[in-house]
Parts: sequence; C-alpha cells; structure tokens
Amino acid sequence: MSTVYITEDTGSQQQGSQVGSMVELRSVSKTYANGYHALMDVSIKIKKGEFLFITGPSGSGKSTFLKLLYGQELPTQGEVTVDDLNVATLRGDHLSFLRRRLGIIFQDYKLIPQRTVAENVTFVLQAQGYTRKEIQRRLEPTLKLVGLLSKADSFPDQLSGGEQQRVSIARAIIATPPLLLADEPTGNLDPDNSWQVIQILQKLNAFGATVIVTTHDEQLVRRCNYPVVQVKNGRLYRK
Ligand code: ADP
Repeated sequence: MSTVYITEDTGSQQQGSQVGSMVELRSVSKTYANGYHALMDVSIKIKKGEFLFITGPSGSGKSTFLKLLYGQELPTQGEVTVDDLNVATLRGDHLSFLRRRLGIIFQDYKLIPQRTVAENVTFVLQAQGYTRKEIQRRLEPTLKLVGLLSKADSFPDQLSGGEQQRVSIARAIIATPPLLLADEPTGNLDPDNSWQVIQILQKLNAFGATVIVTTHDEQLVRRCNYPVVQVKNGRLYRK
C-alpha cells in the first residue's frame, strides 16, 4: 500500500519542502485482541501545520487511528511517529511528555461536572506544575478564543452542548500543544455549533497547530477546503 501524503499548503505559516512531518505511520496495522482488523497496512505522512479531516462511516477505524497517535492503543505491526517520537517505545514520563504535546478533543467533552469552566480548563496545568501566575496568564486569552470568557465561573450543566465542547477545546489548547486531535468533535452538535467548533480549530491551525479531525459529517467537510482522508475497511484513501 502506498503512503498517503498530505502536502497541500492550507494557509499555515510554514511552507516549502523543508517542513517536517508531525505524524508518520509506516505500514501500520491494528488488530484488536478479539481478532478484529481495525486498520490494515496504513501509511501516511502529515506535515507540521496541516489541517486534515479523516472521514469514514462509524466503525471504520477513525478513533483507532487517533488512539494510535496518542498512545491509547499500540500498533500490532508497523511504526507510529508523532513529533519525531516513536509512540510504541514510550513509557511513563516519555509518554506523558508526548501527551503534553497533544491536545485531544472528544465527542462527549469529558468535563468534570463539579468543577467550573475555569477549573476544568486549568486543572491539567495545575497537575503539570504550572505556576498560579502562568495559569492565570493563559486562562483569559484561551477562554476568549473559544468565546467563553463570561462563563468562567459556570458549571458544565449550566452550558449548552456547543459551549461544553468549547470548554473541552479550551482545556485541550491551554498548554499550546503543537498537535490537536479531535475525535468526532461535532458528533453531538447541531450545524451552527459544529461550524463554530470548526472555526475555532481553523484559527488554531492559522496560529501554527497541526489539526487532525475525524468526522462522518460529509457536509461539514465539504464546507471547508482541507485535505480529506477516508478510512474504509481499515485502509486509508486520499479523497
Ligand atoms: P470509528 O471511530 O470509525 O467509529 P473505531 O476505530 O472506534 O471506528 O473502531 C473500528 C473497529 O474496531 C470497530 O469495528 C470496532 O468495533 C472495533 N474496535 C474498536 N475498539 C475495539 C476494542 N477495544 N476491541 C475490539 N474491537 C474494537
């Protein structure tokens, strides 16, 4: 199977052939313990600064692809490199180091109900030993970017679904990770809220982040002009 290269200049700051890969999969297969072949002989290079959509029907292997990038699953065969780190060989502190360089956004937000918006967004930084001053310095511009400055003291159940997803985006980006992974981030949202989420991700991409978004929303994908890779029967196809 040939490698799928994602090479278009999508308006990022970085240009030209000097730009290195943020993500590289070399002949990667993933077979789950029950024998299910989720991905088969997948090769792809995603350059720094790209915005890439991964589409495909439910159960086609989109989440598995992302899980391999953040080390939640290990490949059965082949090699996964993220930001020049071989994910399969990372343990303990090294895996934590990689995860600190990733922002991950999930379909179901994964917010802590008993904590305010500000606390949900900052608790990871606290756990990582950021100073109080540095956390405060980052909080306001991050909430502003996702349009939630006025909701800092609200609790998740006082927010709409779209707002909750924007809190989860704020949490994912407050440490300014160079790679953002979003697994069906608009799966529970109406078209307006979905579009807001995509626009925030576009803005982050314009600031230099590499963004990978899985979705089965073909309409949303068509509305943007980004490269698209389709997962079908465990294989990747450039659309
Ligand atoms: P998608 O994100 O496209 O919906 P997934 O990557 O979640 O697809 O799943 C791909 C396939 O792998 C599905 O058929 C799913 O049932 C299977 N699968 C996912 N996780 C596991 C697991 N932990 N054990 C066994 N099979 C799994």
